[in-house]
Formats: sequence, structure tokens, C-alpha cells
Amino acid sequence: MKDQTQVTLQQEVVTQARTVEQLIIGQATTDGDGVKLTRVLQQGLQKRLDPYLMLDAFGADDPQDYIGGFPDHPHRGFETITYMLTGRMRHHDSAGNSGLLQNGGVQWMTAGRGVIHSELPEQEEGRMEGFQLWLNLAAKDKMMAPWYKDIQSENIPQFTTAEGATVRVIAGSSHGITGAVQREITEPLYLDLHLDDGAVFSQAMAEEMNAFVYVYRGELQIAGQSVGQQRMAILRNEPGSDGVTLTAKGASRAILVAGRPLREPIVQYGPFVMNTQAEILQTINDYRAGKLAA
Ligand code: FE
Repeated sequence: MKDQTQVTLQQEVVTQARTVEQLIIGQATTDGDGVKLTRVLQQGLQKRLDPYLMLDAFGADDPQDYIGGFPDHPHRGFETITYMLTGRMRHHDSAGNSGLLQNGGVQWMTAGRGVIHSELPEQEEGRMEGFQLWLNLAAKDKMMAPWYKDIQSENIPQFTTAEGATVRVIAGSSHGITGAVQREITEPLYLDLHLDDGAVFSQAMAEEMNAFVYVYRGELQIAGQSVGQQRMAILRNEPGSDGVTLTAKGASRAILVAGRPLREPIVQYGPFVMNTQAEILQTINDYRAGKLAA
């Protein structure tokens, strides 16, 4: 772990904390070759949580629930961010890239104009747990060249506050610590929070940023609202609010995600997310013509 606790952390000043607008329970589903997962952020929330398009939580001890993985499939028009808490997954893409995502690591992939890839477990037993988050691209960037980065766990900046919060900064910045990935336009913030019982954690954020918290261990309190395990809290964009404050009820773990909305039309067809139906039809034609393989 790249622990930055020795540097002086900047205080996140929150004077008017956001409240919880809605609690979401994910839908159990399967994707890829029979991988069991929970779709937490579904299509109906894409507008509300713009620029985020999807959040899947996967967590299984039985290899039958994950061993099939995600064989070759295409993407166009957005970014996929896979955070592997536990387990090992090998990815290959049509450009000839390959990488191993494991235990605390992140793969950040910008599909841009197109990629075909596979994501396959490289373990035959034991637990596999993590998240895949889809982040939209601005209209002007949807046809950019594909890009990806494998970020090993030790290269994710991490710090621990005096209040008992250990924070992994995947994207954006927190307490003056800059995360592993920065993005203009959508300005994603992606934090993994490990909180001791009673720990309080604050994060400043502008009121127009769309934000949510997903609790994957324990329970949090957010502005007096209890948010239990496997619940996503959508944080209200209250006028005048300047951040969020979380308090752990028992040892807890959660991801806190925020981004600047694009406010552009969203048209999704499976693994393609564009702005118009015509662009989706073009994408399907391009895929059939083999143009998504870089
Ligand atoms: Fe994929």
C-alpha cells in the first residue's frame, strides 16, 4: 500500500452536509457467462446519477458463480472501472493488451470508439469480490482512441485519518491526496472507505456533483439516515450543500463515488452507450463489420 499518512492531510471542510435522497437495493442478475452479480446502479438511475451508467457488485465464494467470467464482448462510448477487492481476473483485448487484475487493484478502461475484450477469472476456487462501475464519456470524447491502465493495489494512494478512516483514493482527490486517476469534464471521485466503529469521515463536494455511497460491509449513518449493508444511498444535491459526512456503526466499508453530470442524451444498447439512436445503429454496423477491434 502506498500509505500517505505521514504527509499532512488537509481537512475536508463540510458545513452543510448532504442528506440521503433515496436508498437503493440492487437487483440480483447474471451477466457474461453466468456470473452472478448485483446490479446496484441500473438504467433507470442513469439520468439521476449522470455521468455514471452502471454499478455492479460481485461477491461469491462458490466458483460456479463466477468461473465463466466475461468472454469476448465489445464496448463503445464510455469507461469501465473494475475494482477487484479479492480475487484474480485476467483481461485481454483486441489490441493485444493483457493484464492481471487482483486483490485491491483497479483496471480503468476507456472504451472510446471501441474495444473487444474478455475478463476471465484466473482462479478456480476461493472468494471473488469487487465492483464494476461504468462512467460515461462526453459526446466529443465517445469516439476517442481506446485506453486502459492497470493499477496495482500498492499504487493506489491511501491514507488514514485521526478519526479512524482508512481511505483508498482511486480517482479524484481527498484530504489533499491525489488519486490514481484524474479525469477532466466528469471529474470522477472514487474512494474506498474502511471505517473503524464510530469513525467519522467527511468529503467536500460541490452541490452539482451527483454522488452515491454503496455500503459493502457494516452500516453507515448519513445525516441521521441509516444505510445498511448492500444498500446504495443517493446523496441529495441540496442547494448550499458542500459535502457529505459519514459515521460508521460498527466496522464498515463503503465506496463513495461522485462526478460532474454531462447533461447529454444517453442512449444505451447493451455494451454501447451513445447520444442518439443513429449512433447506436452505426455502432452495431461497425461491430458487425469488425471495426470495434482496435
Ligand atoms: Fe467489459
